[in-house]
Amino acid sequence: MISQFFVLFVVFVYGSLLGSFLNVCIYRIPKGSSIVFPPSSCPVCKTKISWWQNIPIFSYLFLLGKCASCGSRISFRYPLIEGLSGILSVFLWERIIGNSSQIPDFHIFLLFFLEVVFVFLLIVITMIDFDYQIIPDELVYFGVAAGVIYSFFIHDLPFSLLAGLGASVFFYAVRVLGEFVFLKEAMGMGDVKFAAFLGVFLGIKKVILAVILSFPIGVALALGLMALSLKSRKDYIPFGPAMAFAAFLSAYWGNQILHWYLHFAVRLLAGVFVHSFADLSQASVWFAHFAARA
Ligand SMILES: [Zn+2]
Repeated sequence: MISQFFVLFVVFVYGSLLGSFLNVCIYRIPKGSSIVFPPSSCPVCKTKISWWQNIPIFSYLFLLGKCASCGSRISFRYPLIEGLSGILSVFLWERIIGNSSQIPDFHIFLLFFLEVVFVFLLIVITMIDFDYQIIPDELVYFGVAAGVIYSFFIHDLPFSLLAGLGASVFFYAVRVLGEFVFLKEAMGMGDVKFAAFLGVFLGIKKVILAVILSFPIGVALALGLMALSLKSRKDYIPFGPAMAFAAFLSAYWGNQILHWYLHFAVRLLAGVFVHSFADLSQASVWFAHFAARA
């Protein structure tokens, strides 16, 4: 029990250290600067940040959210992303390695590693798209490459490539149609390429669900951002964060969502057309069975 807790603690620490690296990526990739050199410094006074000021979460707490040299405020986003990365690492570890009945082998560790890459890329893309309304190509290409390795082990690779292509073509069509209807860019090329990365990782069934979910999530996100006055009505609200969140939900709860939805749909239809409760439960069982196999 204690050893299990210790393992999760170590996973959390490594996850948050990687989260600290994600912060560097979010800050530097859109500026076109190197993500490995030079070491981090305060953006205001340029003083180099020493190792003790760079401990995930803790440094922010004991520096009280201020630079040790010039006292300028450090964004709350840094510890937030470090904490989130730590928690998501523990989540994936529990899901993939902790829940496995087998003794973890190379295959399972590779799976864990690639899913960490997937989720961390979603975080970096979300934040960069939120700040700059761009999704850097190199992140998408890296994601597609990781997704190809991943689906080689998990799904049928040709079907995953088809899912990536299909999702891209769909968003490209939305882009063309959006420009035609609104006479301005409604969907960026970054989103179109991002969809390919999601498709390759998620496979056909889950990417379709992610695409469907991304639209209501996008609306909710836009309303939420305006309510919190983080964006105004005049701002361009990026779609990447909604796609990323929809992909995350679909990847880890997609089967439950589909299952729930089919039950709901069947009950609704059966309620309208069939009055016998026996038929209704029979039909939902049959549909659930079908959904589980699909
Ligand atoms: Zn400073």
